[in-house]
Amino acid sequence: MFDIKSVYEASSVSDAVNHLKQDEDAIVVCGGTDVLIRVREGKDAGKALVSVHNLAEIKGITMDSNENIIIGAGTCFYNITNNDIIKANLLSLGEACDTVGGPQIRQTGTIGGNICNGATSADSASTMRALDAEIVCVGPNGERTVPISEWYTGPGKTVRDRCEVVTKFIIKKENYKGYFGYYSKYGKRNAMEIATLGCSVLVKLSGDKSTIEDVKIAYGVAAPVPSRAPSAESFAKGKSISDENMYIEFGKKALSDMNPRDSWRASKEFREQLIKELATRSLKEAVRRAGGKI
Ligand SMILES: Cc1cc2nc3c(=O)[nH]c(=O)nc-3n(C[C@H](O)[C@H](O)[C@H](O)COP(=O)(O)OP(=O)(O)OC[C@H]3O[C@@H](n4cnc5c(N)ncnc54)[C@H](O)[C@@H]3O)c2cc1C
Repeated sequence: MFDIKSVYEASSVSDAVNHLKQDEDAIVVCGGTDVLIRVREGKDAGKALVSVHNLAEIKGITMDSNENIIIGAGTCFYNITNNDIIKANLLSLGEACDTVGGPQIRQTGTIGGNICNGATSADSASTMRALDAEIVCVGPNGERTVPISEWYTGPGKTVRDRCEVVTKFIIKKENYKGYFGYYSKYGKRNAMEIATLGCSVLVKLSGDKSTIEDVKIAYGVAAPVPSRAPSAESFAKGKSISDENMYIEFGKKALSDMNPRDSWRASKEFREQLIKELATRSLKEAVRRAGGKI
């Protein structure tokens, strides 16, 4: 049995916000794949749950007239991976979502829950970080938009107020158009595995596909929160894609930006090795996807 005070099925986002405001013990639940584990572990036992699970207004993926991509927070991983807009424009995000848990979790768990739980290991988070996603929240004081660079405040913590519901994510055209990405997840098995380390790279090549015009790299589990590696990004810009040493140096620069930790899953030293190796491999793969001949 789960120790839950009550479950309220919200009829709209504003209805959810009102109910969260009325009960200071209430928390939002969407797919429940994190929340119910926390309830069972006792961390969120006895709380009132306000469910946004059935709200059509926070589900689905669209492209607006400016070619910005809008991803509803209540969209499950399976529907992200298999969406045509995602497959055509944000392939590495769809692939990252496809590494989460197993088929049941991917049908139930949502991208909103994955970004709101504040976990550095969240598989969608590093790609969303590389894409400079914007996070739209609705709370008692109305709507606000938070850049993902300002979202995380510490392990499992974000700037989201308890009474705020995340409704959607915006991926601006300039942050994905012309970029090709690759997400590498290291875990000890291929499914039902929380990342030991995750690395997401997005690259844009020059017109003749010989040099790197721009690159973005973000990690999960390489630091307390999903993080970009600015030294690696500025190092690689303008470099030739045929310089084998560049890929190795890119990994070394990325390591200088990160601060991994020991955990039961892996030692700090092993994660340091992964930081370098996954950066090198992900950049190469992203360059190949962009049409570069290495
Ligand atoms: C067996 C198993 C395997 C898993 N494997 C992985 C894995 O490989 N990779 C991975 O990244 N995760 C994994 N997870 C964790 C989990 O499935 C994901 O984090 C998922 O994205 C959570 O989404 P949800 O909709 O179920 O969130 P919920 O459990 O409903 O909520 C999670 C958190 O987000 C908040 N929240 C949810 N939606 C909103 C919203 N719209 N607005 C505001 N706050 C909100 C909740 O209050 C809560 O704090 C796994 C979980 C299980 C049980």
